[in-house]
Amino acid sequence: MKVLSVASEMFPIVKTGGLADVVGSLPGAMAPLGVETRTVLPGYPSVLKRCKRAKQIAELNQVIGETVTLLEAKVDGLAILIVRHPSLFERDSGPYTDQHGTDYADNWRRFAVFSKAVAMIATGAIPGYRPDIVHCHDWQAAMVLTYLRYGDTPAPPGVLTIHNIAFQGQFAAQVFGELDLPASAWSLEGVEYYGGVGFLKAGLQMADAITTVSPTYAKEIRSHEFGMGLEGLIKTRAGAVSGIVNGIDTEIWNPGTDPALAANFDARKLKNRSANREAVCARLGLRTDNGLLIAVITRLTWQKGMDLVAEAVDGIVASGASLAILGSGDRGLEDAFRGAAERHPGRVAIEIGYDEKLAHLMQGGCDAILIPSRFEPCGLTQLCGLHYGCVPIVGHTGGLADTVIDGNLAAMAAGVATGFHIAPLSAGTIVEAVELAGAAHADKAAWKKLVKNGMATDVSWNASASRYLDLYRSLVAGNGAASGT
Ligand code: ADP
Repeated sequence: MKVLSVASEMFPIVKTGGLADVVGSLPGAMAPLGVETRTVLPGYPSVLKRCKRAKQIAELNQVIGETVTLLEAKVDGLAILIVRHPSLFERDSGPYTDQHGTDYADNWRRFAVFSKAVAMIATGAIPGYRPDIVHCHDWQAAMVLTYLRYGDTPAPPGVLTIHNIAFQGQFAAQVFGELDLPASAWSLEGVEYYGGVGFLKAGLQMADAITTVSPTYAKEIRSHEFGMGLEGLIKTRAGAVSGIVNGIDTEIWNPGTDPALAANFDARKLKNRSANREAVCARLGLRTDNGLLIAVITRLTWQKGMDLVAEAVDGIVASGASLAILGSGDRGLEDAFRGAAERHPGRVAIEIGYDEKLAHLMQGGCDAILIPSRFEPCGLTQLCGLHYGCVPIVGHTGGLADTVIDGNLAAMAAGVATGFHIAPLSAGTIVEAVELAGAAHADKAAWKKLVKNGMATDVSWNASASRYLDLYRSLVAGNGAASGT
């Protein structure tokens, strides 16, 4: 089975969030099941730098009036195709925003050109290559399915995975005329979305199958609260929507071999965690007392409930816990946490920025990880936390609800809990959950059980890779029946 995976991010080459982790780790999980994945990425500077020996394999003309080159490369065993267009993709700041954090005004054109080029690849632009499935991730890749639908070549079945429905790729109606689509595409069944153009919306309309990254989020996005305007369409397409929970790459995230840790450990050598705890405290200037040491590793945003954590800081400290925060995002929140660190020296520390190594060390050394998201399609940090014995304290939503077993009285008595849920979510209930976790932490046997349960949880791709394979197979079978091939 040949899968053409399409995304704007892929770990370890270009990453702004969990999307990159999934796109980078799924191909390796699918390979043992006989699925050969090639991933197409835009030619960002980081991609070209990492793929120095990339070979040019084709030049495509008439890509919405542009010419792009296609390059092929291998990175850490991953087969990559690159859509190269210097003025659209080789820019110094981020994949989507300029140095001031403002979206590029021509994002619609950048990802339309990218998507049109991928549609050409999917229908034979590379001699000898025809994928069985096109798997698009998020709005940046969603238009591939639109170009395939309105193209005149038979197309392979298309899957669209929603990693976060809050990011939709919505643009003004005027761009429609520049997309090189037939006039009929301007309709409710096409790209039109609330009077403008919706890239994710169009993909949801065209996809043969829609997946999102947890079963609970698949249900949540049918509602006004979580659907962000797309709930009606999600309900209309309910028969095509399913939730497949993400896994993590357990070779990269392996506490037994992780080079970012001060000391490696496993469920039988938990004592070694204390060296990591000390390393976290030394690095961040925190006191090494016996209280609960809580990690926060995240984008500092409203979605992640970080405004509530800022409000809860004093209560968290009063409960005896300490906070180690790694993240960046909203300036106001960064300032609020800097202020909290000044108010509580040795008990609250913040490292502003993105630091993969420190994230690993914190997961391996902190006692718990706090993830009070307002919504969370899947979430990966709780999976890393479970695997590293860093007990997740999570909002009761999306993939957090699906992957962490709440330490309520019944679950604690039955010895099956792996973390704590915060419901309903507020600054007050965050403090209450931290107090509950603190009390469990003080009971060494109870805490050890929680940690071990988490470490025994299967957070790998194994189960979910089989579900993707079943989905791909059902689409290929359906496609064969429909086209008579
Ligand atoms: P999202 O994609 O919404 O940001 P996820 O939990 O799905 O959230 O994925 C976030 C990924 O980014 C995880 O791999 C997490 O470890 C990592 N991450 C987030 N913030 C930081 C940071 N400041 N430094 C290092 N890694 C981070």
